[in-house]
Amino acid sequence: MDIAVTFRAPGGGLEGQRPDRCERCGSQGFNLHQHATKALKDPATARAPVVRFICKRCRKTMRLYPSGVDAARQTIGLRQVSVLLYWLGLSYDGIREHLGHLGCPLSKATVWANVRASGLLGDRRRLRADPGTLVVQPRSDGATARFLVKGRAVTVRLARGGPGEMVLWVGALQPEAAQLMHRRTREGARRLGLRAELPDRCEAARA
Ligand SMILES: [Zn+2]
Repeated sequence: MDIAVTFRAPGGGLEGQRPDRCERCGSQGFNLHQHATKALKDPATARAPVVRFICKRCRKTMRLYPSGVDAARQTIGLRQVSVLLYWLGLSYDGIREHLGHLGCPLSKATVWANVRASGLLGDRRRLRADPGTLVVQPRSDGATARFLVKGRAVTVRLARGGPGEMVLWVGALQPEAAQLMHRRTREGARRLGLRAELPDRCEAARA
C-alpha cells in the first residue's frame, strides 16, 4: 500500500486583501494599482492572479499572490515536490526527468536551491537510490520513479490529483522497505508543513 502526500492547488481569492504595511516606509495606506496574472511553473496550474498595490506615501508597489504562489516562477507546491523527491532518494537528474514528464523540468541548480532553502540539504536521514538503479517511466497522469534502496525496490509516483492538485505516492512491495519509505515520507512531509496519509479505504480497513 502506498502512502500519499497531496500538494494543494494554488489559489484562493485575493478579494478584499491588502498588504499589512509598506515594506519600504512602513505606511499602512495603499491604493489598488493593478489586477494582473502571472505565468507559473507548475504541473497543474498555468497562471495565477496577482494584485499590485501602491504605497500612498512612498509610491512603492507591492504584489499580493494567492496561497501557494510567491514571487518565484515555480509554485510552492512544485518546490515542495522537488524537495521530497530528493529526500526520498532521487538524484538531481532523476528529479529533472521525473518533473519533465509533468511538463515542469527544473534545472539542477533550482532543485539544489530548493533543497537548501528547505533545510534538508545534506541531512543524513535522506534516502539514496542505489547507484544505477533509477528508472523514470512516464504515465498518462504523471510519472513513476522506480529504484532500489539498499537492494529493495521502491516506487515514487507523482500524479495530477483533483483540480490543480498534485499527489505523490510512495511505496514498496517488501514490508520493511514500505515501512521505511512511509516513515521517511512522513518525516519529509512534516518538515515541509505537509501531511502524508494512507488512503482512506486502508485506514477504514484497519479500524
Ligand atoms: Zn511606502
